[in-house]
Amino acid sequence: LIEIESLHKAFGPVHVLKDNTLTVAEGEVCVLIGPSGSGKSTLLRCINQLEEPTAGRVRIDGVTQGYEEEPLADGRWQRLSPKQIAAQRSRVGMVFQRFNLFPHLTALGNVMEAPVQVLGRPKAEAEATARELLERVGLADRADHYPSELSGGQQQRVAIARALAIEPELMLFDEPTSALDPELVAEVLTVLKDLAQGGMTMVVVTHEMGFAREVADKVVFMADGEIVEQGAPEQIIDDPRSERLQSFLASVL
Ligand code: ATP
Ligand code: MG
Repeated sequence: LIEIESLHKAFGPVHVLKDNTLTVAEGEVCVLIGPSGSGKSTLLRCINQLEEPTAGRVRIDGVTQGYEEEPLADGRWQRLSPKQIAAQRSRVGMVFQRFNLFPHLTALGNVMEAPVQVLGRPKAEAEATARELLERVGLADRADHYPSELSGGQQQRVAIARALAIEPELMLFDEPTSALDPELVAEVLTVLKDLAQGGMTMVVVTHEMGFAREVADKVVFMADGEIVEQGAPEQIIDDPRSERLQSFLASVL
């Protein structure tokens, strides 16, 4: 579903991603690990077109993100308009470390926002779907609460329901539990696990190695902007080859 080909990203002189190639098949769960500053968030942001690659390509479902599907006759790629990019982006749901819900909207209002405002769905239909989604993340009884009235774990589950409301083909999670108190981590990981079991294609940046071991099809280790090792969780977690991965695992396990 996702094909990342020779992806390179530089901010000025700083090369943050260096020639990364990665594929994630439909229904696969890919867990991304690596030290701070290794480029994990930037990689997710390139997949979701919040950053534009300096070189290389991201394709989702065979469609090159941000560019016309076919290069021009002279081999250059034609960029899409912001509107076309927004349409592509609506196929991808993203959940961040900080829940960033709209504070002036209830849980229900947050989940209904994009379907009504972006997709133009009728309100009644969006509300019915939003209630189902809140039920799915275990918050049916919190629909009318404002974010300030919810715990961190509950807010994060609303954020997941909100991302699902656009019916994405693919979900990206950037350290979805790292801002949570330890006792709230499990409730969010349970929602992620349910989603994975439901067949959602997911890329998850997390240092929850128990989750990686249990849920991931593939674990990818990044360091200094490069994918250093990737493979099945048992292979990466229990049998790391590179010294960098060994010392990283020693720091998180
Ligand atoms: P963390 O685990 O701390 O979240 P990360 O692996 O997600 O780290 P990134 O956020 O992708 O790392 O950052 C990779 C590098 O890119 C860092 O050195 C960071 O300072 C740099 N970087 C990220 N965004 C920008 C930007 N907009 N401009 C300049 N440098 C940036
Ligand atoms: Mg990050």
